[in-house]
Amino acid sequence: MKIHEYQGKEILKRFGVPVPRAIPCFTVDEAIKAAQSLGGPVWVVKAQIHAGGRGKGGGVKLARSMQEVQQHASAILGMQLVTHQTGPGGQKVRRLLIEEGADIKKELYLGIVVDRVTQRVTLMASSEGGMDIEEVADKTPEKIHKVAVDPSVGLTDAEADALARNIGIPDSSLPKARVVFKGLYQAFWDTDASLAEINPLILTGSGDVIALDAKLNFDSNALYRHADIVDLRDLDEEDPAEVEASKFDLSYIQLDGTIGCLVNGAGLAMATMDTIKLFGGEPANFLDVGGGATTEKVTEAFKLMLRNPNLKAILVNIFGGIMRCDVIAEGVIAASKAVSLKVPLVVRMKGTNEELGKKMLAESGLPIISADTMAEAAQKVVAAAQ
Ligand code: ADP
Ligand code: MG
Repeated sequence: MKIHEYQGKEILKRFGVPVPRAIPCFTVDEAIKAAQSLGGPVWVVKAQIHAGGRGKGGGVKLARSMQEVQQHASAILGMQLVTHQTGPGGQKVRRLLIEEGADIKKELYLGIVVDRVTQRVTLMASSEGGMDIEEVADKTPEKIHKVAVDPSVGLTDAEADALARNIGIPDSSLPKARVVFKGLYQAFWDTDASLAEINPLILTGSGDVIALDAKLNFDSNALYRHADIVDLRDLDEEDPAEVEASKFDLSYIQLDGTIGCLVNGAGLAMATMDTIKLFGGEPANFLDVGGGATTEKVTEAFKLMLRNPNLKAILVNIFGGIMRCDVIAEGVIAASKAVSLKVPLVVRMKGTNEELGKKMLAESGLPIISADTMAEAAQKVVAAAQ
């Protein structure tokens, strides 16, 4: 789950990470009042959307007068902000953050992820922070320094200081960097985050170390123990189809292709998408109906796929392990009738009660194309989609 920059900064602040004074707003009037209450002389008007790259997209603007605050707030609020993370359609800006202008001496980068290679929470830092960090990672990876943290000890002062020195923080600011590094680590740990990023982390003219941006993503499997974080969810920022899917506990990701996939198990879903691509098709979605798919779930899954205007055909690929093929067949039949399915449907099922499931599909009177192997199913659905 993602949250906005201002919400991320509020969390970081609780863990002792210094952030600039700032006020979130929903209207231009609120933005002006916020700037007045912060006081001048410089403010930054920042679009709040769940995507990075806002600065380059025109969603972060410096204002040197109340008039400029008003102008930028009017321009940004309601705009369709396009960044390298939003896709070509962009994301509508509904919230702003009015922030005091910071005295930036140097823009640094600090991020935390779980590194699969070391299997540890890993801090990454670079002296080359700011809006081009992707390019730094791509062209000069040696400029990104890493520390894999021992979970039984946590981030030590020595590790924090070494990392800070590596990214050019002067010795006089080391205690301040330590507070930020340890605060970010603790925030990541305590909130069950999957990603925590401060880009840029800045060194100010007076030697302070401050988080100028904040990005926190949370592990959705751990949200049950973080009601306060769930409250921060902004459904406006999420794909409507994915929001709908989450209500029925379906793992659904909308994609750009034309072939809908309904599969049980994430691994099989990935393999199904690969096989479709192998035979020249493009999947319209990733969809894992899970181990215990009921007729209701399968019906909702069909409805979700059919909302997509690009959909040309559907492939149902089910392995009946815990799930029985006859239950899936029942679901597919009921769902096809309920949504009066107009696109070709290819079904491949293997496993428990396979024969019964196939018989039910054959006797349903529905124009279902059946297939035995993955390759056959993929070829048939690719042909049907053309
Ligand atoms: P994004 O990463 O989405 O582009 P950021 O919050 O990182 O958005 O802002 C982009 C850039 O704008 C920063 O790298 C920084 O140079 C500048 N900036 C952001 N906030 C402030 C601020 N409070 N004061 C001065 N400059 C800022
Ligand atoms: Mg940033």
